[in-house]
Formats: sequence, structure tokens, C-alpha cells
Amino acid sequence: MKSLRPIEIIGGGLAGLSLGLALRRQGVPVSVSEAGSYPRHRVCGEFIAGLSDSTVAQLGLAPFLSDALQHHEVSWFLEGKLARRQHLPSPARALSRYRLDARLANAFVEAGGSLQTQARVCVGQAKAGCVLTTGRRRTTSPSIGLKIHALNLPLECDLELHLGAESYIGLTRVENGRVNVCGLFRRRELVAQGAALIIDYLRAAKLTVLADRLAGADFDGESFSAVAAVGFDQHVPANCSFTLGDACAMIPPFTGNGMAMAFQSAAAALDPLLSYTRGEAEWPTTCAVVQTTLENCFRLRLATAKVLHPFVLEPVRQRWLTRLSRAHLLPLRPLYFALH
Ligand SMILES: Cc1cc2nc3c(=O)[nH]c(=O)nc-3n(C[C@H](O)[C@H](O)[C@H](O)COP(=O)(O)OP(=O)(O)OC[C@H]3O[C@@H](n4cnc5c(N)ncnc54)[C@H](O)[C@@H]3O)c2cc1C
Repeated sequence: MKSLRPIEIIGGGLAGLSLGLALRRQGVPVSVSEAGSYPRHRVCGEFIAGLSDSTVAQLGLAPFLSDALQHHEVSWFLEGKLARRQHLPSPARALSRYRLDARLANAFVEAGGSLQTQARVCVGQAKAGCVLTTGRRRTTSPSIGLKIHALNLPLECDLELHLGAESYIGLTRVENGRVNVCGLFRRRELVAQGAALIIDYLRAAKLTVLADRLAGADFDGESFSAVAAVGFDQHVPANCSFTLGDACAMIPPFTGNGMAMAFQSAAAALDPLLSYTRGEAEWPTTCAVVQTTLENCFRLRLATAKVLHPFVLEPVRQRWLTRLSRAHLLPLRPLYFALH
């Protein structure tokens, strides 16, 4: 039998690991290089909206998501008050990245994949067989993302989304009674650490009611994580470079769709990569096919998210959004489908 060409994946997040695992299951020689290690907490709302059953089936993700919580409702809060309760057209899943990424990494190794952790690869010239799943790219954005798990925090709803001054923060239940607290804020010169830093950011964003609520909670200090310079755009890959997940395009987190997009992009790349490994297609064609598929697949949701993002970030537009929503003039259902 003719041997399969190898695939090298740089970045062991959701896109890289799920793709690596799916390729290994087809017998492809795959290596994944990951700058960090597992398990690890990551800045992420841990709310997976818009992940279709077909993507789950194509990548064989069901065993890793079997204990994910199913969430049906989102409550939107403005200035500490409930503005609108939204019933999701299809349930979202919630599971910590601490669990999810480690499960995928273990399964990849068990399937015979070669996984190198603590291995930051210098990404240079595009080369045949090399897939970049290195996550979000550094930008000049003034935004910072913060996250921590709270241990005893009652919620009013599956996902509470609080809009503050140039910021928003989501609270959602994940496994073991934990509540993931994760927000996107305008970066400020604040010196506290861990939960205290998040609470200070909430106060700076005029989310005082929520800050007081969190001040009374217990936290898993180990779960605190932060990322700076979070920006959202679509990357046009250079010739023959092959990017998936956030490395290709990052959607604003309020959509809860970034993880689904990472998986979806891995699923879209699977068949073209299999053709390449079997020698049925060359690398430039494979790159072009996948890039076109991803552009078609994500164009509408990225454009919609780009238009809506200022409305969840900026106080004046937030008020307009709330007024429209309270008057039931906001087409939440069509917007949900445009974003997922
Ligand atoms: C504040 C915030 C909240 C979010 N909330 C949600 C949410 O609720 N729901 C949702 O669906 N999405 C959310 N997202 C987005 C979601 O986290 C991402 O879309 C998702 O993680 C993308 O997966 P990925 O595999 O592309 O990248 P990642 O999961 O980021 O993985 C990339 C990996 O590549 C590694 N890496 C980077 N460079 C190198 C290198 N040179 N060499 C080797 N390894 C490298 C990194 O260490 C990392 O492990 C949120 C994002 C932010 C910032």
C-alpha cells in the first residue's frame, strides 16, 4: 500500500487536536506541536453555541462532550438589570477547556499521534503538509480577556451576559457546580490579581451589582487566566499557508461560536487533507479548496458579528440594543442563525 504523506500541525487547541485526531483515525502520520501543556485553564467563556451534530459526528467528538451541560437560555443584563431573556433555538453545550483540551490531547496520543508539548514553533515560510492552528493572532486591540471559575455562585439563568462600559462578561455553569466567569474588557492599569482583578475590572466597567455578587463568591484561584490584545478579524492567509480556527478568523466571544468554528474548520479541512496525504491533490490546491470553503462558510457570521459587536460593547449603543430588545423589535432568532 502506498504510504500516506505526513501532516504537521502547529498549535494544539481545539482546531489542531480535533483535526489531528480525525486524521490519525484515518491512519495518517500526524504530529502536533503545542506551546503549552495539558490540562490547562484558558481564557474562554466555555459556552459552545452552534456546534452541529454533523460536525460532532465527522470529528468523532461525542465521547469528549458527553458530560457537557446543555444550556437553553441566555439572560442579557444592562446596568445590573435584566434586559432580555433569550431562548436558544438549539441548546448550547458548556464544558471547561481544562477538561475538553486535555481529553482531545489524550485521545490524539492514544490514537498514535505524536504530541510535543512546551514546544513553541517558529512559524515562518508556509510549507507543504503544515497546518497552522495557533489560535488568535496578536493585534493592537486594547481589549483584555479574563476568566476564573467560581465555586458557589447561584445563577439566574444558564448563561448570564452582562454588558458594561466597553466590556461584557459571561457567567455560565460548567461541570462540578463550577461557574465560569469570563469577560472581555478594555485594558486598564489595574494591579490586583486573580478574582480581585476581575472584580476591579467589573467596577471600572460600572458593573457594580455583579462586582458585589462576585465579591461574596469562592474561586478556584488556579483557574484564573488572562490574555491581552484580543482583536477580531479575518486573516487572509499567504500563498500556500493553511490556517484553521482562530488563526484563520476570530469571531467576537459574545456569539459563543469560536469553539464551534474551530471544530467546523477542522471538519472542513479533513477531506481535502486526506486527498493530499493520499497523493490525490497537491498542497496549493488543497490550501485553495479549504480557504474557499471556510470563506463561504464563515462570511455571513463574521460580518454579522462585526456589525453587532459595537452594540454589545459601547454604552450608548447598548442602550439602543436594550430598547429595541424590550420592545421586541430585535429579531433575536434570525440574528442567532446569522451568527452560528
Ligand atoms: C474572552 C474570550 C471569551 C471567549 N468565549 C468563548 C465562548 O464562550 N464560546 C466559544 O465558542 N468561544 C469563545 N472564545 C473563543 C474561543 O476560545 C476560540 O475561538 C477557540 O479557542 C479557538 O480554537 P483554536 O484551536 O483556533 O485556538 P486555541 O484554542 O487558542 O489554540 C491555539 C493553540 O496554539 C498554541 N500555539 C500558539 N502559537 C504556537 C506556536 N507558535 N507553536 C506551538 N503552539 C502554538 C497555543 O498555545 C494554543 O494552545 C472566547 C475567546 C475569548 C478571548
